[in-house]
Amino acid sequence: MLDRLGRWARDLSGGAAALAYPPLCLGCEGRLPEPSDALCATCLRGLPRADAETVAGLLADGPVEQAVALWAFDPGGTVRRLQHALKYGGRPTLGRGLGEVLGAAVRQAGIVADVVVPIPLSHVRQLERGYNQAAALADGVATALGVPSAPLLVRTRTTLAQARLSKSERRRNVDGAFALAPGADVASLRVLLVDDVLTTGATLAAAATPLAAGGAQVAVAALALAGA
Ligand SMILES: [Zn+2]
Repeated sequence: MLDRLGRWARDLSGGAAALAYPPLCLGCEGRLPEPSDALCATCLRGLPRADAETVAGLLADGPVEQAVALWAFDPGGTVRRLQHALKYGGRPTLGRGLGEVLGAAVRQAGIVADVVVPIPLSHVRQLERGYNQAAALADGVATALGVPSAPLLVRTRTTLAQARLSKSERRRNVDGAFALAPGADVASLRVLLVDDVLTTGATLAAAATPLAAGGAQVAVAALALAGA
Protein backbone atom coordinates (compact mmCIF):
# COMPACT_ATOMS: atom_id res chain seq x y z
CA MET A 1 0.00 0.00 0.00
CA LEU A 2 2.74 2.44 1.00
CA ASP A 3 4.59 1.38 -2.10
CA ARG A 4 1.62 2.13 -4.31
CA LEU A 5 1.08 5.46 -2.61
CA GLY A 6 4.71 6.36 -3.25
CA ARG A 7 4.41 5.48 -6.92
CA TRP A 8 1.21 7.48 -7.22
CA ALA A 9 2.87 10.51 -5.61
CA ARG A 10 5.83 10.17 -7.97
CA ASP A 11 3.56 9.91 -11.02
CA LEU A 12 1.60 12.93 -9.85
CA SER A 13 4.67 15.09 -9.35
CA GLY A 14 6.10 13.90 -12.67
CA GLY A 15 2.83 14.78 -14.37
CA ALA A 16 2.69 18.19 -12.74
CA ALA A 17 6.25 18.93 -13.80
CA ALA A 18 5.46 17.88 -17.37
CA LEU A 19 2.43 20.19 -17.37
CA ALA A 20 4.41 23.11 -16.02
CA TYR A 21 7.29 22.61 -18.45
CA PRO A 22 5.93 21.05 -21.62
CA PRO A 23 8.94 20.70 -23.95
CA LEU A 24 6.96 22.11 -26.87
CA CYS A 25 8.01 24.85 -29.30
CA LEU A 26 6.30 28.15 -28.40
CA GLY A 27 5.89 28.82 -32.13
CA CYS A 28 4.59 25.65 -33.78
CA GLU A 29 3.98 23.51 -30.66
CA GLY A 30 6.18 20.75 -32.08
CA ARG A 31 8.23 18.62 -29.69
CA LEU A 32 11.58 20.09 -28.72
CA PRO A 33 14.67 17.88 -28.42
CA GLU A 34 15.95 20.05 -25.53
CA PRO A 35 13.41 20.87 -22.79
CA SER A 36 15.38 24.04 -22.02
CA ASP A 37 14.80 25.39 -25.55
CA ALA A 38 11.91 27.73 -26.27
CA LEU A 39 11.63 27.37 -30.01
CA CYS A 40 12.52 24.84 -32.66
CA ALA A 41 15.23 25.85 -35.13
CA THR A 42 12.68 26.64 -37.89
CA CYS A 43 10.60 28.98 -35.70
CA LEU A 44 13.75 30.60 -34.29
CA ARG A 45 14.98 31.42 -37.80
CA GLY A 46 11.54 32.70 -38.82
CA LEU A 47 11.18 35.40 -36.14
CA PRO A 48 11.20 38.96 -37.51
CA ARG A 49 14.30 40.98 -36.64
CA ALA A 50 13.95 44.38 -34.97
CA ASP A 51 14.77 47.38 -37.14
CA ALA A 52 18.27 48.52 -36.13
CA GLU A 53 17.65 52.19 -36.99
CA THR A 54 14.52 52.34 -34.84
CA VAL A 55 16.45 50.80 -31.94
CA ALA A 56 19.34 53.24 -32.30
CA GLY A 57 16.92 56.19 -32.59
CA LEU A 58 15.16 55.35 -29.31
CA LEU A 59 18.40 55.61 -27.34
CA ALA A 60 20.15 58.29 -29.41
CA ASP A 61 19.88 61.25 -27.03
CA GLY A 62 20.88 59.53 -23.77
CA PRO A 63 24.00 58.01 -22.23
CA VAL A 64 23.76 54.77 -24.26
CA GLU A 65 26.44 54.47 -26.96
CA GLN A 66 25.34 51.29 -28.77
CA ALA A 67 22.09 49.36 -28.75
CA VAL A 68 20.79 46.13 -30.17
CA ALA A 69 17.35 44.51 -29.98
CA LEU A 70 16.93 41.10 -31.49
CA TRP A 71 13.32 40.56 -32.51
CA ALA A 72 10.26 42.63 -33.37
CA PHE A 73 6.83 41.64 -32.05
CA ASP A 74 5.29 39.56 -34.84
CA PRO A 75 1.64 39.27 -35.92
CA GLY A 76 1.69 35.54 -35.08
CA GLY A 77 2.49 36.46 -31.50
CA THR A 78 5.44 34.10 -31.06
CA VAL A 79 7.69 36.86 -29.64
CA ARG A 80 4.94 37.89 -27.21
CA ARG A 81 4.53 34.26 -26.10
CA LEU A 82 8.29 34.05 -25.61
CA GLN A 83 8.27 37.21 -23.52
CA HIS A 84 5.34 35.94 -21.48
CA ALA A 85 6.97 32.55 -20.89
CA LEU A 86 10.15 34.32 -19.86
CA LYS A 87 8.36 36.62 -17.43
CA TYR A 88 5.76 34.38 -15.85
CA GLY A 89 6.68 30.83 -16.77
CA GLY A 90 9.13 30.37 -13.93
CA ARG A 91 11.72 28.90 -16.28
CA PRO A 92 15.15 30.44 -15.65
CA THR A 93 16.69 27.96 -18.12
CA LEU A 94 14.55 29.52 -20.85
CA GLY A 95 16.06 32.94 -20.08
CA ARG A 96 19.59 31.61 -20.20
CA GLY A 97 18.99 29.89 -23.56
CA LEU A 98 17.44 33.01 -25.09
CA GLY A 99 20.27 35.06 -23.57
CA GLU A 100 22.78 32.99 -25.49
CA VAL A 101 20.89 33.71 -28.73
CA LEU A 102 20.89 37.43 -27.83
CA GLY A 103 24.61 37.24 -27.03
CA ALA A 104 25.32 36.00 -30.55
CA ALA A 105 23.43 39.03 -31.94
CA VAL A 106 25.42 41.36 -29.65
CA ARG A 107 28.65 39.94 -31.01
CA GLN A 108 27.35 40.27 -34.58
CA ALA A 109 26.52 43.94 -33.93
CA GLY A 110 30.18 44.50 -33.04
CA ILE A 111 29.46 45.36 -29.40
CA VAL A 112 32.31 44.50 -27.02
CA ALA A 113 31.67 44.27 -23.28
CA ASP A 114 33.73 43.63 -20.15
CA VAL A 115 30.68 42.85 -18.02
CA VAL A 116 26.97 42.16 -18.52
CA VAL A 117 24.51 43.85 -16.14
CA PRO A 118 20.80 42.97 -15.84
CA ILE A 119 18.16 45.63 -15.24
CA PRO A 120 17.21 45.04 -11.58
CA LEU A 121 13.59 44.22 -10.76
CA SER A 122 11.93 45.83 -7.78
CA HIS A 123 12.06 43.61 -4.70
CA VAL A 124 8.29 43.25 -4.79
CA ARG A 125 8.22 42.00 -8.38
CA GLN A 126 11.15 39.69 -7.79
CA LEU A 127 9.34 38.18 -4.78
CA GLU A 128 6.16 37.73 -6.83
CA ARG A 129 7.94 36.00 -9.70
CA GLY A 130 10.69 34.26 -7.81
CA TYR A 131 13.38 35.37 -10.24
CA ASN A 132 14.46 38.25 -12.46
CA GLN A 133 14.05 37.42 -16.15
CA ALA A 134 16.61 40.09 -17.09
CA ALA A 135 19.16 38.40 -14.80
CA ALA A 136 18.51 35.02 -16.47
CA LEU A 137 18.93 36.65 -19.90
CA ALA A 138 22.09 38.46 -18.75
CA ASP A 139 23.59 35.14 -17.60
CA GLY A 140 23.05 33.69 -21.08
CA VAL A 141 24.45 36.76 -22.84
CA ALA A 142 27.50 36.70 -20.55
CA THR A 143 28.06 33.01 -21.32
CA ALA A 144 27.88 33.70 -25.08
CA LEU A 145 30.35 36.60 -24.77
CA GLY A 146 32.67 34.82 -22.34
CA VAL A 147 32.50 37.62 -19.76
CA PRO A 148 30.96 37.79 -16.27
CA SER A 149 27.44 38.91 -15.44
CA ALA A 150 27.18 41.10 -12.33
CA PRO A 151 24.35 42.92 -10.52
CA LEU A 152 26.06 46.33 -10.55
CA LEU A 153 22.78 48.29 -10.40
CA VAL A 154 20.09 48.62 -7.75
CA ARG A 155 16.66 50.25 -7.72
CA THR A 156 16.50 53.32 -5.50
CA ARG A 157 12.71 53.41 -5.36
CA THR A 158 9.67 51.56 -6.64
CA THR A 159 8.26 52.53 -10.02
CA LEU A 160 4.90 51.98 -11.68
CA ALA A 161 4.61 49.38 -14.45
CA GLN A 162 5.53 51.23 -17.66
CA ALA A 163 2.90 49.57 -19.89
CA ARG A 164 0.02 52.01 -19.36
CA LEU A 165 2.05 55.22 -19.23
CA SER A 166 2.66 57.77 -22.00
CA LYS A 167 6.16 58.36 -23.27
CA SER A 168 6.83 61.39 -21.03
CA GLU A 169 5.23 59.67 -18.02
CA ARG A 170 7.49 56.68 -18.59
CA ARG A 171 10.56 58.88 -18.51
CA ARG A 172 9.44 60.59 -15.28
CA ASN A 173 8.51 57.24 -13.74
CA VAL A 174 12.02 55.77 -14.07
CA ASP A 175 14.13 58.94 -13.94
CA GLY A 176 16.60 58.55 -11.08
CA ALA A 177 15.20 55.12 -10.16
CA PHE A 178 18.56 53.34 -10.51
CA ALA A 179 21.93 53.69 -8.78
CA LEU A 180 25.23 51.84 -8.72
CA ALA A 181 25.22 48.91 -6.28
CA PRO A 182 27.14 49.72 -3.08
CA GLY A 183 30.86 49.37 -3.75
CA ALA A 184 30.49 48.99 -7.54
CA ASP A 185 33.36 50.63 -9.44
CA VAL A 186 32.57 50.86 -13.15
CA ALA A 187 35.20 53.43 -14.21
CA SER A 188 36.38 52.71 -17.78
CA LEU A 189 34.41 49.42 -17.95
CA ARG A 190 32.48 48.55 -21.09
CA VAL A 191 29.09 47.60 -19.65
CA LEU A 192 26.34 45.80 -21.54
CA LEU A 193 22.92 46.39 -19.96
CA VAL A 194 20.36 43.67 -20.63
CA ASP A 195 16.57 43.75 -20.50
CA ASP A 196 13.85 41.58 -22.03
CA VAL A 197 11.92 44.25 -23.95
CA LEU A 198 12.83 47.68 -25.34
CA THR A 199 9.79 49.95 -25.71
CA THR A 200 10.52 53.69 -25.47
CA GLY A 201 14.04 53.15 -24.12
CA ALA A 202 13.21 55.13 -20.96
CA THR A 203 14.09 52.32 -18.51
CA LEU A 204 17.37 51.43 -20.24
CA ALA A 205 18.39 55.11 -20.48
CA ALA A 206 17.59 55.66 -16.78
CA ALA A 207 19.59 52.56 -15.84
CA ALA A 208 22.52 53.63 -18.04
CA THR A 209 22.72 57.05 -16.38
CA PRO A 210 24.50 56.07 -13.10
CA LEU A 211 26.80 53.71 -15.03
CA ALA A 212 27.86 56.47 -17.43
CA ALA A 213 28.21 58.90 -14.50
CA GLY A 214 30.53 56.33 -12.89
CA GLY A 215 32.76 56.40 -15.97
CA ALA A 216 31.47 53.33 -17.85
CA GLN A 217 30.84 53.04 -21.58
CA VAL A 218 27.30 51.73 -21.84
CA ALA A 219 25.71 49.55 -24.53
CA VAL A 220 22.31 47.88 -24.24
CA ALA A 221 20.79 44.66 -25.52
CA ALA A 222 17.13 43.67 -25.45
CA LEU A 223 15.47 40.51 -26.64
CA ALA A 224 12.61 42.31 -28.36
CA LEU A 225 11.54 45.72 -29.62
CA ALA A 226 7.91 46.50 -28.80
CA GLY A 227 5.87 49.30 -30.35
CA ALA A 228 5.42 52.06 -27.75
ZN1 LIG B 1 8.58 25.60 -33.89
